[in-house]
Amino acid sequence: LGKGRWEVFAPSMHAAVLSRHEFKADLHRALPRDELVVQYQPIFEVPSGDVVSAEALLRWRHPRHGLVQPVDFIPLAEETGLIGAIGLWVLERACAEARRWPGHGLRRDIPVAVNVSPKQLQSGAFIDEVQRVLARTGLSPWSLILEVTESLAIEEVEGATARLQELRELGIRIALDDFGTGHSSLSRLRDFPVDIIKIDRAFTTTLSSSRDGGGLSHAIFAFGHSLGLTVVAEGVEEMDDLRALDDFPRQWAQGYHLARPMDGDAMLDLLDARSLERGPEAGARVVRLPLQSQAS
Ligand code: C2E
Ligand code: MG
Ligand code: MG
Repeated sequence: LGKGRWEVFAPSMHAAVLSRHEFKADLHRALPRDELVVQYQPIFEVPSGDVVSAEALLRWRHPRHGLVQPVDFIPLAEETGLIGAIGLWVLERACAEARRWPGHGLRRDIPVAVNVSPKQLQSGAFIDEVQRVLARTGLSPWSLILEVTESLAIEEVEGATARLQELRELGIRIALDDFGTGHSSLSRLRDFPVDIIKIDRAFTTTLSSSRDGGGLSHAIFAFGHSLGLTVVAEGVEEMDDLRALDDFPRQWAQGYHLARPMDGDAMLDLLDARSLERGPEAGARVVRLPLQSQAS
């Protein structure tokens, strides 16, 4: 690291390397040992309260460490190349699950949103893989949304833009995740093949803020709508966040105030319960929003 420096070796460093090594080996076994689980977080349209989509979120039930969150193992999966197999597994699970959701095959069904790592898009085989999953599970392409992070738009993963465009031509929608936190320029977005932008929680929570009157956040939401995109507010945690969205027509919202990520059966129950509430012909899309009180 340069001349005239001391580096002190501490036994804990050795332990850290070992445990990381162990964690890596564990991750290799996670898929064959069936330790990965997918949860679903519903996304609502406001102010109607319709469930319009649900995001598939990965968790790892580690035999010793308990439930591990994606931030703690997705980077490792990307580093080791395991993300290809894991990502494909998530896609297949999520598509199979969404096939069970009421209203599937109808025009206004509920698409499942699946996160895709830039590493997956690097592979030329990705489009074929997605098509095979759709064929195996019987899910229609318009019932699938693929979420990519904003960083992808800048890094210009080779061939990624063309690949996303090809996926869109199949009828799959593309969502730009965590919008506003990366470094992509607004003009870049104009040319990027995208149908949905998911605006990062940092802007959702400041929409109703008194500091700058929420001006910047408001502009970002308005910008998405003016491009004709579907706009999702991420991280709606408070009643005030939800109220601030009233200015935008057909706005989508996701967050703990509305519903937490849940397992597949709970998601199905939620959709079934709501469709019963409205009668079978109304489909499953209508859900009462927790406008007054905190969601349970
Ligand atoms: P993301 O795609 O932006 O997913 C939204 C994250 O926000 C989820 O965290 C969700 O649980 C959390 N969230 C939802 N509502 C609220 C809220 O009201 N407040 C707060 N503070 N957080 C909320 P999670 O499940 O821990 O996932 C973290 C990230 O890990 C995801 O961010 C996504 O980038 C990545 N990830 C998750 N599953 C997958 C996957 O299957 N493949 C890939 N490549 N990445 C995944
Ligand atoms: Mg996402
Ligand atoms: Mg996000």
